[in-house]
Amino acid sequence: MSSNSSQPSPEPPHPERVTDRMKVVSYGGGVQSTALLVLAAQRRIDYRIFLFANVGDDSEHPATLEYLRQVAAPFAAKHGLEIKQLAKTRRDGTTETLMGQLIKPEARSIPIPVRMHNGAPGRRACTADFKIKVVGRWLRTQGVTAAAPADVAIGISLDEIHRANRRRAEEYERIEYPLLDLGLRRADCEQIISEAGLPVPPKSACFFCPFKTVGSWRQQRLEEPELFAKSVRLEKVINERRRLLGRDEVFLSRYGRPLDEAIAVPDSQVVDNETAACDSGWCMT
Ligand code: SF4
Repeated sequence: MSSNSSQPSPEPPHPERVTDRMKVVSYGGGVQSTALLVLAAQRRIDYRIFLFANVGDDSEHPATLEYLRQVAAPFAAKHGLEIKQLAKTRRDGTTETLMGQLIKPEARSIPIPVRMHNGAPGRRACTADFKIKVVGRWLRTQGVTAAAPADVAIGISLDEIHRANRRRAEEYERIEYPLLDLGLRRADCEQIISEAGLPVPPKSACFFCPFKTVGSWRQQRLEEPELFAKSVRLEKVINERRRLLGRDEVFLSRYGRPLDEAIAVPDSQVVDNETAACDSGWCMT
């Protein structure tokens, strides 16, 4: 990966920008984004730059970061593609992570979609602040403007078509959905990845994302107890701060109770029918 920052880059302009409209993929590190990477390697879609807005090494699921480093980045390099890693930066140029922002003692608002007592998720700023704006800032450093917008591809598959077109495009971007254009479902994406000789990546999302289904929380508790303990701790930190501010408790799961009480040890018979997901399409792809 060639960059860790959304700050202006000293590298020369990419040829696509000079002669053509700039085309990038919003790369989330999951199954659909990886299928786009394989399709680009096979020249079935016309994208060379994959932008991974990393919300933080302390926030992304570790398996996603591992897959990116061990599998996706070498595959991209071998096929002349570029996965560019971007991060949210402060005015002084230092990197800010989502977890860092959540546990800041002076924080007033909560950027992630924490759930209320009735289980409904609250408004969120995380996707916009840590992904959409980070990508937008990088595009603008490359000369992209409202007059010369970029094509930004998002990996939404046919079975998740309800997640497409939910967000108004920024003026500097034209959103594209190559998997929808090709009529591909998630299972097709997995097959494309396997046939290219790559392991299928794990689901990508922050490990503490409140959009996580109850089944996924149970799985985390059973299979990744250290991540589950971090999620429990995060929920406690958020609520301790809210108590001091005289505000209601909020939760990471939809049960309206603290995570360690709400999430029972998994039952292998549990069928997870929940469909909650990030509706912007920028997360979990
Ligand atoms: S995965 Fe969840 S918590 Fe992370 S940025 Fe996306 S919506 Fe926010």
